[in-house]
Amino acid sequence: MTGETLPPGSMIGVVGGGQLGRMLAISAAQLGYRCHIFAPNEFCCAAEVSAQHTQADYDDEAALADFAETVDVITYEFENVPAAPLRTVAEATPVYPPIDALELSQDRLAEKDFIREHGGRPAPYRAVDSIGDIAHAVEDIGTPGIVKTRRFGYDGKGQSRIFAADGAEPAWRNLGGQPSVYEAFIDFENEFSIILARGIDGEIRLYDPPRNRHADGILSTSTVPGEGIIPDQRAAASTLARSVAESLEYVGVLTMEFFTALDGPIFNEMAPRVHNSGHWTIEGAATSQFENHIRAICGLPLGETGLTADRIEMTNLIGSEVERWGDWLKKDQAHLHLYNKGEARPGRKMGHVTQLF
Ligand code: AMP
Repeated sequence: MTGETLPPGSMIGVVGGGQLGRMLAISAAQLGYRCHIFAPNEFCCAAEVSAQHTQADYDDEAALADFAETVDVITYEFENVPAAPLRTVAEATPVYPPIDALELSQDRLAEKDFIREHGGRPAPYRAVDSIGDIAHAVEDIGTPGIVKTRRFGYDGKGQSRIFAADGAEPAWRNLGGQPSVYEAFIDFENEFSIILARGIDGEIRLYDPPRNRHADGILSTSTVPGEGIIPDQRAAASTLARSVAESLEYVGVLTMEFFTALDGPIFNEMAPRVHNSGHWTIEGAATSQFENHIRAICGLPLGETGLTADRIEMTNLIGSEVERWGDWLKKDQAHLHLYNKGEARPGRKMGHVTQLF
């Protein structure tokens, strides 16, 4: 049924049960679709707003096969899910975005190599599989730099910054001595992301790129229009994102994060999914990233992505910041989103606010 329109009323399978799944399910419901969430936790904030929930580990192939039988299309909201079992179910049930994109995003080294092949420029990097490699990498690239594990990193986890050469080996050991990359630390002016949606028919729509600010490796704010993003850099990053999406025959929302540098954008990483830096699109764009993802995977035409206000700012509510939810409600321009995730542990994304000016 690849390439066909999935009519409203159909069931969308979502692998992953976090806030991205929750917001996807809310958008799906608006268009008359139902969602079935596949996630390991008994309570998850995506299942709470969905028709069905399978509680099973991501590598439980039998449970995944049963789940696939109940849905018309499968998507994922989290990239650390094993790709092999998804490939098996994809023989009978379409999986979007394509599993090749998922696999690429699971391996920082493969991802950076792929981006270079497509004319993009990551920060200088070297593969690190041994103590010898880390010494050579630091010799070649210098310091400061960052060791990042090739797999299972997110929100600044699985990374360690190095200020002097003798810090490299302990940093790598502290990350478990896993296959990693060492990359140059970029003294960037700004960070921004390109968020695009690509439909089953190949149509591509781009959002206005937000300027992103991070604190402790976690996204703190996204602002649109993204001040400080030079038009040439935006154009180069958009061209790269389009060519990546086309070569992967991508379907759904794709996000690519960049640093601005004097001589052009530097690619940081990509996510084959809706992204935190696109949450502002719920109120700030004509069609949100969540709705466009649902439209794309269901074979519907994509929606317009233009801005609904002059300036838009999304602020993440991390950990105990969520306790100020009542203050945000008093601001006329603020739209509050709470994920009902329970305990507000430090570093946990509990909600966000989008302000339209
Ligand atoms: P990542 O998980 O790779 O997206 O890293 C999280 C954040 O850490 C990025 O958004 C940047 O703010 C910072 N960061 C990551 N890599 C670098 C780098 N090579 N140079 C400078 N800052 C970085």
